[in-house]
Amino acid sequence: MNAKPQLHVVECANCGSRDVALRYVSIAEAFGLPAITLSNVRNVQCAECGQETVSIPQHGNLMNYIRHALCYVGRQLVGSEIAFLREGMELSQVELAELVQSTNVTVCRWETGKVAVNDQADLLIRVLTLSDLGVPGEIDAVLKSRRNGEQAITIDVREFNQFSYAFEFTQDIQYGRDDDGWTIDEIRNLKVA
Ligand SMILES: [Zn+2]
Repeated sequence: MNAKPQLHVVECANCGSRDVALRYVSIAEAFGLPAITLSNVRNVQCAECGQETVSIPQHGNLMNYIRHALCYVGRQLVGSEIAFLREGMELSQVELAELVQSTNVTVCRWETGKVAVNDQADLLIRVLTLSDLGVPGEIDAVLKSRRNGEQAITIDVREFNQFSYAFEFTQDIQYGRDDDGWTIDEIRNLKVA
C-alpha cells in the first residue's frame, strides 16, 4: 500500500476532544534557563477537559542545540546553566569538580547561585561541553564571544523542527585543536579577559 498523506487532526492528548484551540506561544526561561526563550511553541488548549499541551519537537536535538549555544553566551555562566551543562555531560557534581580542579561543595554553590563561577572553570565547562558535543577546538571563538556575544538566546521551534542537529558525537572527551592542540592545563591557565 502506498502511504497516503496524513491529515493531522488537532485533538486533545488527554480526552481526544477536537474542541481545542491551537496557538503558537513563546516560552521564556525554558527548562529553567533564564537566557533561553522558545518561540512558536505549539500549544493546544482543550475546551472539554481543560488540558493544555505544549509540544516541543526533537527534544534531544534541541537540548544539544541549547548546550552549544550556551557555550557562546556573552557573559559568565549562571548557576542553572552550569547545572544544565553538567547534566548534559552526564557528570555528577563530584565528577565536574575533579575536571575543573574544584570541590563538589563549590560546584554546588555555583549551581545554586551562592557564588559566581570563576573564569577558568566557566571556560572549562564550555570547552568540556563542546568536546562532549563533538566540536572541540573552538576556544578562541568561545573566548571572543564570552566577551561580546549574545546574552540571551531565542529559538524558533518551528524552524528547529526542520533542522537536524549535525554534530557527530565522540566517545572520549578531547581537548584541543587539530593544529597544535590545547592541553587541559593550558586551558586552565588561559588568561580570561
Ligand atoms: Zn481534553
